[in-house]
Amino acid sequence: MVTTLRFVSLLSVLAVIGWLLLAESARQVARAEDDVLTITPVTARVPQGGTALLAIRAPGATAVRVRQGETVFPADARGDDRWEGVVGVWMETKPGPLALTVEADIEGRMLTAPVAVTVTKRDFPIQRLRMSRSQASKYEAPSVQEEYRLIGAALRHFTHGRAWLGGFKRPAAGRVSTRYGTQRYRNGEKVGIHKGIDIAAPKGAPIYAANAGSVTLRRDFGLHGRTLVIDHGGGIAGLYLHLNDFGVSEGQVVKKGQLIARVGSTGAATGPHLHYALYAHGTAIDPLLMETMPAGW
Ligand SMILES: [Zn+2]
Repeated sequence: MVTTLRFVSLLSVLAVIGWLLLAESARQVARAEDDVLTITPVTARVPQGGTALLAIRAPGATAVRVRQGETVFPADARGDDRWEGVVGVWMETKPGPLALTVEADIEGRMLTAPVAVTVTKRDFPIQRLRMSRSQASKYEAPSVQEEYRLIGAALRHFTHGRAWLGGFKRPAAGRVSTRYGTQRYRNGEKVGIHKGIDIAAPKGAPIYAANAGSVTLRRDFGLHGRTLVIDHGGGIAGLYLHLNDFGVSEGQVVKKGQLIARVGSTGAATGPHLHYALYAHGTAIDPLLMETMPAGW
């Protein structure tokens, strides 16, 4: 009886050891498989001015980045080992394959994986603009550099856990008078590329937040006029210029479609309109291409 008991207990000890060994090997197999960094380009072909969306699975990663040449920006941590990358494709990007790499820090190692995204060509319009000497002189004011610095910093600000969900609604009713990517000549001189869209609307017309986010900049500038920047999270920010008045304060959380300002012509503007622009990690993207989003985004 005693012997039998001892035998049974020995068997159970062996069984427990065997189970532990099996469990350990199963865990290691699972870990080896989990090491694979998987990236799904949600948008494998992106037009110039578009945005590449990357769905990334990186089990155990503490940080995930997207590298585009010398530029590196963070991917958005979405929980459950899921990360998202948004890559703004500037309108002058050469058509063809875009050199993108995803880097993930997993258990002290850096895993990298290339991403296949192809940029397709688009045509952009040319616009010739007459502007009065006093309006044009606003571009030369010494305060302009400071405006660009403050706006640029707000547009490049990154926060994890995007607030934006679904398409970016056009923030004001009216005709698009200048499109994204328009090459602009002011008084006969090439002055650059239009980085957003202009919506012609009467002074005082309501402006609504294109998507959810929080107000990171609210300033009254000489060139840009009354200005709002909304951080939508995950690397996307929205810029609203030439506002007549503000409907929100800095730091305020806004919902998609919430009234944020009214149309004006403050700063250097030839008439009342809204300049509305979207940026991905500081790169201007075409807001009209952001109006519809793939399912789940
Ligand atoms: Zn504009």
